[in-house]
Amino acid sequence: MNLTDPSVIRRLLGREDFHLKKSLGQNFLIDETVCPRMAELACAPETGVLEIGPGIGVLTAELAKRAKKVVAVELDTHLRPILSETLAPYKNASVVFGDVLKLDLARLLSESFSDCASITICANLPYYITSPVLMRLLESHLPIASITVMVQKEAAERLCAPVGSRSAGAITVAVSYYCKPKICFEVDRTSFMPPPNVDSAVIHLELLPSAPVELEDEAFFFRFVQACFAHRRKTLCNSVSSALGLDKQALAFALQSLGLPLTVRAEALSLDQLAALSNRFKRD
Ligand code: SAM
Repeated sequence: MNLTDPSVIRRLLGREDFHLKKSLGQNFLIDETVCPRMAELACAPETGVLEIGPGIGVLTAELAKRAKKVVAVELDTHLRPILSETLAPYKNASVVFGDVLKLDLARLLSESFSDCASITICANLPYYITSPVLMRLLESHLPIASITVMVQKEAAERLCAPVGSRSAGAITVAVSYYCKPKICFEVDRTSFMPPPNVDSAVIHLELLPSAPVELEDEAFFFRFVQACFAHRRKTLCNSVSSALGLDKQALAFALQSLGLPLTVRAEALSLDQLAALSNRFKRD
């Protein structure tokens, strides 16, 4: 069954009286070249793959052909009969129905993939939850080797931007702290049914074996970084003091001691400088 053929998708959905839900980001891939490329990035024969949002199983099938095992988490239980049919040929693929933002992922991974040599994550992410999903995957310290995801093109550029560049945001800092990021290829909006209003890109995040900077308190670092980028038009000093209630003079002194001007904005700081500042305030 060709799951990227629009007439096949319409037949499968129509038979179950399934209506696509914009609110769940249900744009299904109809470009047959995309899923094999994503699966090649995410799989090795001994890998266990966690997929988020299988839809009708188009990516799941390509993952199952290349990995040892695939577990897909889908929120919409109305897709159950369709997935039972489309994934029937793949005995190494299963679906867990639930919200990826609420499930105990550490437990799911340890229960599902104890016999796999490594674990990766692969998804055509529902765009309305791109940042919360990625932050959850990264901050949970899951035992994963990589994350290969399709996201909105602008989000891909931000996620993979160098820290210290104009495109950087709080999520860029998180990605650089945990991973080596790379934009792999772009996907046009016409590759989906229905087409979304934006183009997409597939990114590959390779998890780093150890943190690139030393932090006194990781949770505080991420709160501090959120505060730095909270008001992009404000200086870092004003943004952090209003968001965290830190003393402006102490912030000015800390910036000065790093050789940074008082007017500096968050986007100009390197990962080392952000870590040094946050460590400084954690100690005080
Ligand atoms: N993988 C399919 C494809 O590429 O055609 C579908 C991708 S579609 C962009 C996103 C999928 O994520 C949908 O199947 C949607 O129901 C599911 N989804 C949305 N929110 C979710 C959540 N919080 N947890 C798990 N799955 C979710």
